[in-house]
Amino acid sequence: MEVAIIGGGFAGLSAAQEASKFSDDVTLFHQKPYSEERSGCWGQGIKDFSRFPVQRELDGYLRDLNQAKLEDGNGSGEVSFADGVVIERSRFENSWASRLDVDMIQERIDRFKLEQISRDAKLVVDCSGPFPVSKKLRDFSYSLIAPMLNCKVYGDFSDIYPDVKVIKYKRYFLEMMPETEERCNISIGCSRENEPAEMYEDMETILSDRDIDVPDFNEVTHGNYVSNSLLTILRHSKFRINGAEVKLAGDALGISSGISGFGNSRASWSGTQAAKTYFAGESYPKKIFFDQFLSRAMHTTFKPLHRQLGIVSSMRYLGGSELEVGRLGDPRGLRDLLRATKQIARCKIN
Ligand SMILES: Cc1cc2nc3c(=O)[nH]c(=O)nc-3n(C[C@H](O)[C@H](O)[C@H](O)COP(=O)(O)OP(=O)(O)OC[C@H]3O[C@@H](n4cnc5c(N)ncnc54)[C@H](O)[C@@H]3O)c2cc1C
Repeated sequence: MEVAIIGGGFAGLSAAQEASKFSDDVTLFHQKPYSEERSGCWGQGIKDFSRFPVQRELDGYLRDLNQAKLEDGNGSGEVSFADGVVIERSRFENSWASRLDVDMIQERIDRFKLEQISRDAKLVVDCSGPFPVSKKLRDFSYSLIAPMLNCKVYGDFSDIYPDVKVIKYKRYFLEMMPETEERCNISIGCSRENEPAEMYEDMETILSDRDIDVPDFNEVTHGNYVSNSLLTILRHSKFRINGAEVKLAGDALGISSGISGFGNSRASWSGTQAAKTYFAGESYPKKIFFDQFLSRAMHTTFKPLHRQLGIVSSMRYLGGSELEVGRLGDPRGLRDLLRATKQIARCKIN
């Protein structure tokens, strides 16, 4: 085995696809079976689809996402997306996996198996999500761990569809992402102080206003949104176990910058880069640094504005005017950063 990928979410699928361009000896280890009802599949909005190495023809692609409606205590507003898509994640991952030309082994990898794999493989990409398996051999913690809940609900969503609605409630964001006019994916989070039981009660309250029943607490999927400081990310992005070069990608590395909402695109991008840099002899930490530096700078600049004006006004001001949400939250170059900073500077903060 030349390349071993652990975990078959977006980071793992992207790493496997990229590695298979250079090697015919790639194995993807994934613990949950691929199917149209794959469990633990949340995060159905992709704000920056061009970062994915696949096209819209995959099964599970539902539609382009052009707009999100935001609501907070100050009112409501809209922001636009240039390159967003909505997917049904189980079907999307299932369809992607079925097209990969790699060996697939359904197995949960523990630290002993990881040590064994790292004796055989030259490259191991650990994409096993928050709290990854290689964390057992290497001590690091996340700077943000925010519990989240996710479920599907049924009702009339024709007033939202085909857009997305985000409601700011207490410290949470409740995101309603309709799959159809009658079926909707709900996520609620993501601040570190959230208690799942309290979030669940509030989700029930918000949705009961729309006559929507929420599944029982135990049937709702519990997840975590994780993020790391840039320094920790760089220190742990690449290391060696036994003879193998090990790289972390996606949520395993905590590559989302705070609650940016770009977890999926970052996971996919970093998975691709983890494999690509190995075969091209390039530096993976350097790639991550340049990518992360800009978006973290943006995040830091944006935070005070967000605090002062609230989500609706600040996003309407920034995202709804000259700058697209993608460029705003995940800038690709200094020009994006400068344009946003100029807009922030023009903004009147009380
Ligand atoms: C409720 C919720 C809603 C979200 N909504 C959005 C959204 O709308 N848009 C967005 O961009 N981001 C969203 N996110 C964040 C996004 O889901 C993640 O950033 C993204 O899924 C990370 O992808 P990943 O491949 O790194 O990890 P994961 O998607 O977590 O994939 C890890 C995979 O590894 C497998 N695995 C774990 N351990 C092992 C092991 N030991 N051996 C083998 N396999 C293993 C798991 O089964 C899983 O398939 C959301 C997160 C949550 C919790």
